[in-house]
Amino acid sequence: MSELLEKYRSKLLEPFSKEHECFLYWKGRVGLYAILKAAGVGEGDEVILPAFTCVVVPNAIIYLKAKPVYVDIQRTSLNAGFEDIRKARTDRTKAVIVQNTFGLSSELDQISTWCRQEGILSIEDCTHGYGGQFKSKPNGSFCDAAFYSSQWNKPFSTGIGGFVITAHDEHKQGLRELSKKLITPSWTERLSLSLQYFAKEKLLTDANYWNLLRLYRRLTKAGLLTGSSSGTEIENTAMPQDYFKAFSEVQARKGIKELKHLDQVIDQRKQAAHTYTEFLEKHGKYHVISELHRDHSFLKYPILVKERENFFKLAEAAKIRLGDWFISPLHPVKGDLSPWFFDRNEFPVSNEVSSQIVNLPLKVDLNKVQRFLEKHIDQLL
Ligand SMILES: *Cc1c(COP(=O)(O)O)cnc(C)c1O
Repeated sequence: MSELLEKYRSKLLEPFSKEHECFLYWKGRVGLYAILKAAGVGEGDEVILPAFTCVVVPNAIIYLKAKPVYVDIQRTSLNAGFEDIRKARTDRTKAVIVQNTFGLSSELDQISTWCRQEGILSIEDCTHGYGGQFKSKPNGSFCDAAFYSSQWNKPFSTGIGGFVITAHDEHKQGLRELSKKLITPSWTERLSLSLQYFAKEKLLTDANYWNLLRLYRRLTKAGLLTGSSSGTEIENTAMPQDYFKAFSEVQARKGIKELKHLDQVIDQRKQAAHTYTEFLEKHGKYHVISELHRDHSFLKYPILVKERENFFKLAEAAKIRLGDWFISPLHPVKGDLSPWFFDRNEFPVSNEVSSQIVNLPLKVDLNKVQRFLEKHIDQLL
């Protein structure tokens, strides 16, 4: 392994105990696939996961011929609760995926302890949570293994990228073996990423943000730019041919740079979230309740609105960059979710929340956002 990749891995492991090992992948989803495959999850097995996630999560399960079994979320935490997970368990349950949604983990101690007692593999989806903590331990250290993402808009970014952290000897062994099969990214993919780092640093302004965002989404959808999801991943459940891909040095170089100020960025996000909570609570609107703040590293701040499409238009006019996670229980797939074994009627909370949710930006002029919210307060739920 190259020195640069080695340096990046050791940086990522800094918050963890020395038993932990880190494995790098092209994307976070590839890391999840690797964990499941290394653990022997396959045909006839069931994997429990929250009914409010990114479609690439059930995809990784389906690629291995296992079945995703969803559990509805709680409106307060936007995560699946322990009791509901327990009820979803069958003789075929092989693994449970618990999600750190927008930086928040919940009931992880109970869930991971129960999984261990029952001989079920526990996995943390920490794609929103690197650098944060749950009950004073680093996110990703409760379960048997955790996967992370460094895609655009994740806690820190390498454009696209992912990794797995585990302290479990058997999993380490399995993941080491599997790593030998990773495909090397092509030079065009690596070049595309370098150009995007440059574009994001030098060209992005409030004036052109929405046009560039639309252009980026069109180009990645058409496969002309190395993006986070290839068209087919959100259209069907067939595994893309070059899915099992390795992480590259261009990404590692970017990651090392980004990690230097991550703690500071997280503190800033927490501060902003605190301000939003005070504001929303005062107005009697949906907010992240204060009890959850201690364990929340806040990648996004969720609010609920009445007419989301219209709300986005208002925000664009006011030049406020709202986030649109998760616009569907299996983000970003709209419409029929049955190819992913998902029936919207079975998960009323997720279905409703995903039709109302909007994320407030955390790294901006908070006064400007508050003035905007105040003006449209009747739109908030
Ligand atoms: C982004 C995301 C993923 C996938 O991460 P990638 O690096 O894009 O593969 C998985 N789960 C959730 C909840 C996510 O938001």
